[in-house]
Amino acid sequence: MSQVAEMFGSMVFNDTVMKERLPKETYKALQSTIKNGKALDLNVATVVANTMKDWAIEKGATHFTHWFQPMTGVTAEKHDSFIQPTADGKIIMEFSGKELIQGEPDASSFPSGGIRATFEARGYTAWDATSYAFIKEGVLCIPTVFCSYGGEALDQKTSLLRSMEAISKQATRVLKLFGNEDVKNVKTTVGPEQEYFLIPEELFDQRKDLIFTGRTLYGAKAPKGQELEDHYFGAIKPRVQAFMKDLNDELWKLGVLAKTEHNEVAPAQHELAPIFATTNLAADHNQLTMETMRKVAKKHGMVCLLHEKPFAGVNGSGKHNNWSISTDTGKNLLDPGETPYENAQFLLFLSAVIKAVDENQDLLRISVATAGNDHRLGANEAPPAIISIFLGTELTEVLKAIETDTPCDKKEKVLMQIGVTTLPHFSKDTTDRNRTSPFAFTGNKFEFRSLGSNSSISCANTVLNTIVAEQLKQFADQLEGAKDFNKEMHALIKKVLHEHNRVVFNGDGYDDAWVAEAAKRGLLNLKTTPEALSHLLDEKNLKLFGEHKVFSEVELRARYEVLSENYCKVLNIEALTMLDMANKDILPAMSTYSKKLADAALQKASLGVENTFEKETLTKLSEMMSAMYKAARKLEEDLVNTKSFANVGDLSFYYKDTIIPDMVALRIPADGMEMIASAEDWPYPSYGEMLFGVR
Ligand code: ADP
Ligand code: MG
Repeated sequence: MSQVAEMFGSMVFNDTVMKERLPKETYKALQSTIKNGKALDLNVATVVANTMKDWAIEKGATHFTHWFQPMTGVTAEKHDSFIQPTADGKIIMEFSGKELIQGEPDASSFPSGGIRATFEARGYTAWDATSYAFIKEGVLCIPTVFCSYGGEALDQKTSLLRSMEAISKQATRVLKLFGNEDVKNVKTTVGPEQEYFLIPEELFDQRKDLIFTGRTLYGAKAPKGQELEDHYFGAIKPRVQAFMKDLNDELWKLGVLAKTEHNEVAPAQHELAPIFATTNLAADHNQLTMETMRKVAKKHGMVCLLHEKPFAGVNGSGKHNNWSISTDTGKNLLDPGETPYENAQFLLFLSAVIKAVDENQDLLRISVATAGNDHRLGANEAPPAIISIFLGTELTEVLKAIETDTPCDKKEKVLMQIGVTTLPHFSKDTTDRNRTSPFAFTGNKFEFRSLGSNSSISCANTVLNTIVAEQLKQFADQLEGAKDFNKEMHALIKKVLHEHNRVVFNGDGYDDAWVAEAAKRGLLNLKTTPEALSHLLDEKNLKLFGEHKVFSEVELRARYEVLSENYCKVLNIEALTMLDMANKDILPAMSTYSKKLADAALQKASLGVENTFEKETLTKLSEMMSAMYKAARKLEEDLVNTKSFANVGDLSFYYKDTIIPDMVALRIPADGMEMIASAEDWPYPSYGEMLFGVR
């Protein structure tokens, strides 16, 4: 076996290990839990736990943890050792079935959005047996959901799993209509492409803004940015190469299918793409990937920045969420296939996605809404905040032909008849070229490109799965009673295309004309997080999530609270950090530099020497210092008012409309001063040093 093959999954309690080590009966029982979601029997769990523990100890583990994803967006773990005291004062290593299936972390230290107030304070974690246990830093990690005792989801995984169930149920109904009796369930699959920056650790350590907020709050542009386009896919520097090798090794050991790595558009920016996996696994793996990136970077004397916009003026980082649906029999439902029959099925699923996106532009935008991601969406680098679908010209033409009953083959004048005519073959190349669309069809999957680099992918996929499930439900409801299935399906697809083609846009999403055109089409343009979130609790959304049992009303209200609060807290920390930097570092440093200039100017004057540089610089500097001082006072005063809001929604709009403009105003004079201050006197490493510092 090659070294990589041997390393791959070596820290995962995966199927191979289970088959090898578990008694046959136990293995079978566990498989049926994994495959069919049957509850795990405690006797089975006891055997599994014991085997898991022996395996983990062999691999050097001493502790175990329930590894979960609270609404903070990062993962949580509380380590317990395996040790149990014995009567003779020694210890044995133990791990019980109960400890495997259920844990009871104190829920009160995690955001609950008010759920805690109305229900019991305790929460519990429960093993998601479809995601394998793994060992990380000597700790056996059990991937778990995290719920309140009333059963309300307090995490990202629970709703994701529910949404997967919802789409599986509805898609299976639709597939039955095509005679696919053998399909028992469908799974959504995701391959998230992860962008990140690497900068030297010693520079990071000198910047309070990076330390406290993950992004630079001040910083003048470097003389060179990304304009030469020489970084994208460029040769990877040896130090970065060494990091990537280590990162791959660590990820492979954890069973993460890290596949592609390359430099990204901005200097110091890179990307890692895994091979796609079932969505809940992909979400777990993406969390592990981000965590491992940070850890491995540190080993190499660098810091991995996962913030959506660490540097103004250069591209930020996102996460492209490649999403598809496939059956347990291995068929990708977003692959057009070869035969008219496969094509018909594809067109129906495609129509479901088109209708879902059009009717739920708000939810898709909400699913990627954070303070950090607002810097990307709508800036000409990431997709615009307007949600639209790119289908490519070939597929769009076919759909147009169906919608309007015009011949799709102009020479032969053949009408598209769904279920009878074979679709023309679209080449993948032509579908993948548009880089500005938030939601692009790329041959056999959709690429949702609006996600921020820092967030869990769970929320976006929970929304995607649920909105498509709803459409499939409507389709199944209608077609299950059809007298002539082909005819009714054809009519249904035609109607959907006709009613929802406004959401299809194949042009340049960065073009200002698109903003106007989208408004004319009646598409939403929710530029900021507060605007987006104000739609989350709309009647339509409460009903949708309720009907598919993904979020109850209580849970959705809790999400709204947590997301809004998070937005306010992030901005508050940023504002306070800016003030701290202004008051303690920048203004004092510029005062020192001013004194140097004034002394030099006076000395020169006394010698009768020309002193234009000192005088003019001093004048400009003094003006900007005053402007900065005033801006800082204004921000300070406006922050006091944040205390007067009773409602988190109103507060979030106050941050957006008052605090953010204050922060922008404060930054301008600071960046202006950085441009003319001596490098020695400026208190922080520059953009140039950070972006070009890894050599
Ligand atoms: P590129 O975007 O560079 O052309 P690909 O389109 O091959 O590369 O893949 C991009 C990402 O999409 C990868 O993470 C890949 O694993 C993922 N992907 C490919 N097929 C599917 C699928 N059926 N479902 C989900 N993700 C997929
Ligand atoms: Mg791609």
